[in-house]
Amino acid sequence: MKSNIFCNFALANTKMVPDFIDIGEIRRFDALLDRCSTVTVTAHTHPDGDALGSVSAFVAWLREGRGKDAMAVLCDSPAATVRPIVPESVPLRCHDTDPQACLDRITASDLLILLDCNGFSRTEALQEAFEASPAPKVLIDHHLHPERERFDAVFSTPDISSASELLYYVLLALPDIGGDARRLPAASARALLTGMTTDTNNFANSVYPTTFRMASELLAAGVDRDAVLSDLYNRYRENRVRVMGYLQYENLRITPEGLAYMVATRAILDRFGVEDGETEGLVNIPLSIDRVKMSILLKEDQGHFRVSIRSKKGWSAQECASRWFHGGGHENASGGKLFWPGDIDTPEAASAYLESVSKTCLA
Ligand code: 5GP
Ligand code: MN
Repeated sequence: MKSNIFCNFALANTKMVPDFIDIGEIRRFDALLDRCSTVTVTAHTHPDGDALGSVSAFVAWLREGRGKDAMAVLCDSPAATVRPIVPESVPLRCHDTDPQACLDRITASDLLILLDCNGFSRTEALQEAFEASPAPKVLIDHHLHPERERFDAVFSTPDISSASELLYYVLLALPDIGGDARRLPAASARALLTGMTTDTNNFANSVYPTTFRMASELLAAGVDRDAVLSDLYNRYRENRVRVMGYLQYENLRITPEGLAYMVATRAILDRFGVEDGETEGLVNIPLSIDRVKMSILLKEDQGHFRVSIRSKKGWSAQECASRWFHGGGHENASGGKLFWPGDIDTPEAASAYLESVSKTCLA
């Protein structure tokens, strides 16, 4: 374990729990944890690094730190690019490969935890089972508009980097951790740093003083950040770089109002053999252009496009996602879907739709 005098000094002199952690809620949460034995932890569909990092960290701690029968249950299997975030010690079931086992597990659980999304609707195929369960439910999330009334304990703040960061400070506030990150299981510490790193795009967005504090304490607790970065960013297949180059060169359009958009059709995805997760980060790149205010990436799926939206400060990706794409997320990073038939008649009509989005959202 890496430790030095400075780290011990820093820990001893930092206020243990940031203001966004409600101690009354921590007590309620701790009591719920005491009473349960079978815990199911979930997050949003198409889980990203923050969803997988926070879920893995929490399951690992529940098992190692509290001796619970804890399991991760997700709607979709993680993409190969982010699957390694889930340690082998964390049991994981997914509805797309094992539907009945997931539903049975939810029914058998006496505590349900939702991470990195604001309500059970974002667990799609699992929503009904979660909502039907009489077990207590806990929400730990950083998206806008949390469905508070459906949960028995809620930790929710949008002014934070990630669900992983919020979970870090919730864990720190629990009596067993007592503010000392070195008491977290190694698997939890690493998964939390990983989740925060992906949601901040490696410290580029949504970084707060508490984010650096968390990173500093986790490094002091022994997390190998070089290994985290190498696993996240240096293990892609070659086709990721090629399809990202192709889309930027051949496909990127920029409207007069400053909307940059790319449409990754099925033909393009097939030509480059793109798998789920392999275009992660692409939507951010056009924001580096001076006159671009918002960037949208469409990826063709069955009967709809999956939509990723990023915006510069002053323009709302969140409003655009909820008004035009049945979605939501954060002020400057959101997502949703564009359906055909419905929103557009055929996939070919996507560009015209985006041109009108541009005139309305950025006028
Ligand atoms: P990404 O573009 O990385 O897939 O998603 C960016 C953000 O938007 C994430 O916080 C994600 O949870 C949110 N998001 C993505 N897709 C949807 C969606 O279909 N509905 C809602 N409400 N949020 C979404
Ligand atoms: Mn997140």
